Amino acid sequence: MSGPIRLVWVYPDLLSTYGDKGNLLVLERRARLRGLEAAPVLVNSDQPVPRDGDIYLLGGGEDLPQVLAARRLRADGGLVEAAERGAVIFAVCAGYQLIGHVFGGADGEPTEGLGILDITSARAEPRSVGEIVADVDPVLGIPKLTGFENHQGHTTLGPRAIPLATVTTGIGNGDGTEGAHAGRVLGTYLHGPALVRNPALADLLLGWVAGPLPPIAHEDDELAQTLRRERLTAVGAAQ
Ligand code: GLN
Repeated sequence: MSGPIRLVWVYPDLLSTYGDKGNLLVLERRARLRGLEAAPVLVNSDQPVPRDGDIYLLGGGEDLPQVLAARRLRADGGLVEAAERGAVIFAVCAGYQLIGHVFGGADGEPTEGLGILDITSARAEPRSVGEIVADVDPVLGIPKLTGFENHQGHTTLGPRAIPLATVTTGIGNGDGTEGAHAGRVLGTYLHGPALVRNPALADLLLGWVAGPLPPIAHEDDELAQTLRRERLTAVGAAQ
């Protein structure tokens, strides 16, 4: 590829409640540790979504901002265009729900999403809150996921979406699966932030853009691995 990897953080003003901006920081850091240049672009909801990003990131959000984000992203059209072009999209929780066809709005009312991922979400009781561990679809070739979930959605996958993982601790989509992927679009309920706790997932996304990546020196990866180990141990999950 030519030029820096363009990392587009979509709507920090609406979808940044759960600390998911860490996903952006980790991608930037892990790219730079490989000598790859990364250019973060923060796009607020009153700005157009650039069409030429390499990786688009969406975070979690409260119910009303989530509805507003979906409305503005639909009107803007940039994210849908980027997905059609084959850009990488990594969407968390509210972001995950809103790139699907429909999700539950502030009062649970069905609300139109972007239809980028073949999923439908609805409001469900009780709220899913707590640590989550899940075994990743072997096709993706990365170790189990650790994260924290805090949402009220149950998500059903259509035939064009593949479960990202199988839950061993926690709730995820609500049917024993967690998240979804299709091509280079990947959605998950995991906060933590997800890419901080799961560096292999960060590298998977980077690799989709930059090709095979050299390993990172042990001392540069130690903190991430320690956090990961600690969180998995806390819920009695093996490494
Ligand atoms: N508002 C959504 C829900 O409660 C998403 C929450 C989140 O992003 N953590 O299901």
